Amino acid sequence: MIDFRSDTVTKPTEAMRKAAYGAVVGDDVYGEDPSVIALEEKSAEILGKEAALFVPSGTQGNQIAVLTHCSPGQEIILEAESHIFQSEGAATSAFAGVQPYTIKGQKGAMNPEEVEASIRGSDIHDPETGLICIENTHNQAGGAIVPLENMKEIYDIAQKHMVPVHLDGARLFNAVVASGIEAKTFAKYSDTVQFCLSKGLGAPVGSIIAGSNDFIKRARKWRKRLGGGLRQSGMIAAPGIVALETMINRLEEDHIHAKLLAEGISNIKELQIRNDVDTNMVLVDPTKINMSAETFVMWLEKLGILTVVFGPNIVRFTTHYHLSKEDIEKTIQIINQELN
Ligand SMILES: *Cc1c(COP(=O)(O)O)cnc(C)c1O
Repeated sequence: MIDFRSDTVTKPTEAMRKAAYGAVVGDDVYGEDPSVIALEEKSAEILGKEAALFVPSGTQGNQIAVLTHCSPGQEIILEAESHIFQSEGAATSAFAGVQPYTIKGQKGAMNPEEVEASIRGSDIHDPETGLICIENTHNQAGGAIVPLENMKEIYDIAQKHMVPVHLDGARLFNAVVASGIEAKTFAKYSDTVQFCLSKGLGAPVGSIIAGSNDFIKRARKWRKRLGGGLRQSGMIAAPGIVALETMINRLEEDHIHAKLLAEGISNIKELQIRNDVDTNMVLVDPTKINMSAETFVMWLEKLGILTVVFGPNIVRFTTHYHLSKEDIEKTIQIINQELN
């Protein structure tokens, strides 16, 4: 099977497994796990933030950010197809008690003027805007890079209105590698950041949230409340350090592979590519071969190619560490052969 379902299917490298085995550990709820502390310090430095916190998942990281920034009854502004709005089980409402205000973006980027118009006034009827969320890269937009300029404009507006900004950077390093812009430069236009170690970076578990010392102190309490205070978690933090040291630059390879795949597929005239392929995702529309996304995914599976439904007529292919150039070429060849 050639597995394009997600970059989350990546398994820890040999070096990560060795790091886990040899990790120096302690009780992290007591703040005594040297490996966790090292990962948090390294992450904060990469993002140019005062402090960072190791959390079990990206979802928990985002939710801790919402819980820490907001209070119940507030409203959060976010992109209409963002992960926080679409794919976290309405946790912002269920846990933080905030209501979402969505803005439809262009390739994942919200129009700054619309963001400003959506920030609530002081009328007694109005909810209060508690947070603005930006997602970069944007998953549903096919791994699209939200331009730095767009982030800056939104951040300037947010600051003017004294509303904090959270960056859901689950795949921030894909944006970093593809754009050549440093992580701390993206992070500068947000108060807090979440990134995943367990996606393209290949670590087995975990995410990081970063922000000011005060924010992380309060976030740590929310993590404990949610049951995310782990004990000898250096066992899973140590592979995260290896991920940051060895797996960032190689994302370039995933991006080259995605472009190669898109090029090959676009030469098969019945299939249409629906994204610009900024990073490691290719969105394919099978309408012209008279298949729904669901049928196309099943059709591909029979040919040994795993993908995911990403909309009624969109199938997502995601490239990652375990997929070689040969896998990409083979995939194009198989599809080509079947359709011609
Ligand atoms: C994967 C993802 C998350 C959540 O990460 P999990 O570790 O799967 O909970 C959040 N935001 C975006 C954009 C993602 O792609």
